[in-house]
Amino acid sequence: MNSFIFGAAFITALVLSAALTRDAGADPVRIMVAGLFWTATVALVWHQWVKRSLLYFARFGAFLGTAILVFIVYKSLSREDMFIVCSPGCPPRPGTFWPFLFQWAICLGLASFVIWGTWERFAAGWEKPSLRTFTWSVFIAAWTAACGYLLVRNTSLAVLKQSGKSFIILVGSIVGVIGGLFLIVYLLTLPSRRRAKRETEEFERLDAETKRAVVNQIDTLARRGNWQLVYQRSENADQFANGVARIGGQPLLPTGVEWPKSQDGKPGLFLLQIPLTAQRLGESWRDRLLSIFLVDYALWIVSQHRDDLALSIERAPPGEEYTQKLVRLQGIAVPFKEPAIDDEDGNTGFDTKSLLELNPALKERITALFSRPKVLLARLLNYRSNTSEVSTEDAILVGGNPSLIQGEHDAKCPTCNEPMRFLLQFCDVTEEEIMGDSGVAYVYGCDRHPDQCFGFVDFY
Ligand SMILES: [Zn+2]
Repeated sequence: MNSFIFGAAFITALVLSAALTRDAGADPVRIMVAGLFWTATVALVWHQWVKRSLLYFARFGAFLGTAILVFIVYKSLSREDMFIVCSPGCPPRPGTFWPFLFQWAICLGLASFVIWGTWERFAAGWEKPSLRTFTWSVFIAAWTAACGYLLVRNTSLAVLKQSGKSFIILVGSIVGVIGGLFLIVYLLTLPSRRRAKRETEEFERLDAETKRAVVNQIDTLARRGNWQLVYQRSENADQFANGVARIGGQPLLPTGVEWPKSQDGKPGLFLLQIPLTAQRLGESWRDRLLSIFLVDYALWIVSQHRDDLALSIERAPPGEEYTQKLVRLQGIAVPFKEPAIDDEDGNTGFDTKSLLELNPALKERITALFSRPKVLLARLLNYRSNTSEVSTEDAILVGGNPSLIQGEHDAKCPTCNEPMRFLLQFCDVTEEEIMGDSGVAYVYGCDRHPDQCFGFVDFY
């Protein structure tokens, strides 16, 4: 303890102890209150100069507290007006028994602390009963009996009514406030939840064939121009080297690559494996496959050429480590529209409006299928498909522009120190959403050293 704080605390405790002792007279309650302050004074001295556990003194303080409460109850044993409030100038009126019940509970806690000291000893005392267990049980029974006797003796019908009234007021106001808040939130979100439910039903009514046809149309149209890639769940994915694009399960790793480990030696979590086939990424990347792990809340990335796949094997994490459920992914080409230079909204070149504007045929088809065309696109293209906007923050997007939720990343190649190119970003694909609050990961790589990749995880 800081010596200044100690000095101030010590002097305060000492002065209060002395003053309370002087005023105590013959009143046992006042004597014990003074004793409480003396305990604090001695505890401070003990802590500063003797340096032994303060638990001993805390228990002595609790003992005095228990004694005060027991004494008050002992003195009241013959009373019948404990719950009658007499304020000066007013006629006596019925009060409530709640403070008395509170006093009963406090004393139970204090006495248990005096007798047991710690939770561990309390728990152990029940496995192997001892004198301590017996003492505690007798005290609890006697104290509860005494308080029960006083409660019955002092509770008149008027007191009961008053206690009931204040209970209803207290509980009623708590329930009222909480219930009111819930009701406001419920009413405010009702329209959007109803709409989301309607749209989910509408989406489920569309058969798989129709959905696939729309996705294929988007993909075919996009590949005629400048395109990027979104990855979406798929049952029959046919990427290069059949179905390497995946979330969870076992990654394909070159035989020489060790499974990443955290600082404390725990195996990292395999997140996803993504081929970078997007047209915009250029020669160095189009034939590359990234395997991305989460290790100590940072990304750990293996970049390999598709030719190395023949030498790669599906790898399970070492030991009995938890793996994410396998979800196969399908890449869908979507058009990239160069954002205007003076675009203040940070347009990333991927939005449903431009997707529909660029493809009148697609717009016509989707409008005929779904009440809100943008919502259908969002559900078809976002990885997290419960949103109504196509958002790069809910998608796995390869070869676009980064849609940043925090500041810009300064990614430099560790080999040549040149700025790295943005490769992909992905939303939280973990089952337990462990990438922070609405986390988004960004991956960068060096064109000249494509085995060098670096990633960032940002969240709100
Ligand atoms: Zn480099």
